[in-house]
Amino acid sequence: MSEISAVVSAHLRDVPDFPSPGILFKDIGPLIGDAQAFAAVTEHWRLRHQHRVDAVAGIDARGFIFGGALALALGVGFVPVRKAGKLPGPTVEKSYDLEYGSATLAVQRDALEPGQRVVVIDDVLATGGTARAACELIEEVDGKVTAFEVVLELAALDGRAKLSRWPVEALASS
Ligand code: AMP
Repeated sequence: MSEISAVVSAHLRDVPDFPSPGILFKDIGPLIGDAQAFAAVTEHWRLRHQHRVDAVAGIDARGFIFGGALALALGVGFVPVRKAGKLPGPTVEKSYDLEYGSATLAVQRDALEPGQRVVVIDDVLATGGTARAACELIEEVDGKVTAFEVVLELAALDGRAKLSRWPVEALASS
């Protein structure tokens, strides 16, 4: 296990039956609450993506925490990929299936300059629908997705299968 993987794994908390029965929620609270662990994650991504991206996109809502920190560390702008109905002005939207029901994400139409290189960030990769919708939205507003980065991958759900068009890195896997 790599050093960053060990740090991440030591700072995640399993919460059974949240937000509904049968779900094992992976809580990043201890990770972002520990200054050294949070900094280690940001620094790992900074070294990997410096000089390679023009912007960071974070997925609503916990991707905002990690993505905002990374954007500052890299000295690039931040693009929020938000739940539908939250962003003002012209947006592009994408709906996708969840285990039960569906969800819609949105990005502002003018969020990027054409061809800007973007790393997309989230906390947990489960079935992959959220990440794929986010990456497709970045492309629809003319960005180029250089990678999808996630703190934790739930490997058994094989979210990567939906992300074959982009490089995917997970800091930890369970
Ligand atoms: P999915 O589209 O199935 O890959 O779900 C990924 C999104 O749902 C991410 O934005 C995660 O924050 C959230 N998510 C899904 N499963 C979990 C889980 N077990 N624990 C915490 N967050 C989760």
